Amino acid sequence: MTFSHYDLHTHTTASDGVLSPAALFASALEHGIEILAITDHDTIDGYSQLLSLQQSGEISDQIKLISGAELTCVLERQVLHIVALNIQMDNPGLIEHLSMLEALRLDRAERIAEKLVKKKLPNILSLVHEKAAGAQIGRPHFAKVLCDLKLVSSEAEAFKKYLGAGKVANVSVQWPTLEQVLEVIKQSGGVSVLAHPTKYKLTMSKLRRIIAEFKLLGGDAIEISYPGVNVQQQNILKFEIDKHQLSVSAGSDFHTPENKWTTLGRYPKVADDLPHVLTKCLADQVTLKRI
Ligand code: AMP
Ligand code: MN
Ligand code: MN
Ligand code: MN
Repeated sequence: MTFSHYDLHTHTTASDGVLSPAALFASALEHGIEILAITDHDTIDGYSQLLSLQQSGEISDQIKLISGAELTCVLERQVLHIVALNIQMDNPGLIEHLSMLEALRLDRAERIAEKLVKKKLPNILSLVHEKAAGAQIGRPHFAKVLCDLKLVSSEAEAFKKYLGAGKVANVSVQWPTLEQVLEVIKQSGGVSVLAHPTKYKLTMSKLRRIIAEFKLLGGDAIEISYPGVNVQQQNILKFEIDKHQLSVSAGSDFHTPENKWTTLGRYPKVADDLPHVLTKCLADQVTLKRI
């Protein structure tokens, strides 16, 4: 594990992160980050707040901000996360897509709350809305409220007991398809990155099929470096990247400073000879010292 000067996968209070966009920015400065993408789940609000602060001179211009979001979608019933980078925020298709995701998440939140009530837990929907405070609402907000109420002893337990795969409150959602998401990203001028490929708990043959489909549908890059990925997994990913002529990306998937083993810019080093998605993001910008 090394520290990098760029981080292309981070979360703020605009989704399920713990730091506000401004606090995340301050922490990124402390960690020597020079290029930062805020990639909140299904929203660009965190990035847009930071951009305004930077344009008005309220925060430093030492960090180059890249627009981003981690978009939820499905391929053959498998939920996937696609990190969109360098998207145009004012693109009508993107705006419509994000408001559709917001509606899906609000509807899901109601159904999760109902499922928990059926399990004889109190109705926590209004507390969850308070917790989210206008953020794109997600299962972690439920986990946090269940913790606050001492109904579980940790967020991990909340997922294990109620919210995780196959559990009672993991209600099904008609997420957009991978094809739709890749189209939206393309239309808004962005590049698409398959996030944390080894975290979906797929067999290697299923993962290979998903990567092939991702490429076929116009996907651009694959995250090759993130906390938890091991050398053997990276070698398999490198093989697929080479086979399908994809680019690589990397990021910490930072959510909270409480998690001691993830920090901004902290993930295994990315080899210099791999085609990097950053070169696409920065193609029309001043050349940076190194990527
Ligand atoms: P959602 O997008 O609302 O379905 O929530 C997914 C988010 O929940 C992920 O991005 C993680 O931040 C978090 N998450 C998923 N699984 C777990 C888990 N087992 N324990 C804690 N957090 C989790
Ligand atoms: Mn998350
Ligand atoms: Mn993710
Ligand atoms: Mn993430």
